[in-house]
Amino acid sequence: MVQCPNCGGRSIGKIGCNQYYCWECCVEFSRSRNGEWHVYTVLDDGSLSRVITGSCDQAPGSATTAQHLAIP
Ligand SMILES: [Zn+2]
Repeated sequence: MVQCPNCGGRSIGKIGCNQYYCWECCVEFSRSRNGEWHVYTVLDDGSLSRVITGSCDQAPGSATTAQHLAIP
């Protein structure tokens, strides 16, 4: 059973190969080959914005937390 890595919800829809959508918090997520979850929010213009989840040791100000990607 897939669980949302963002909110832990279980209302998950599959939208593609290894890609899922959470109906509870409205994010898309996919699992990379190393088992890490990548979470994206869908912006108004239809593009995806990467959401950084969990603890990460980014230096403050060194990285943007959102990375815009085009939907394939
Ligand atoms: Zn969720």
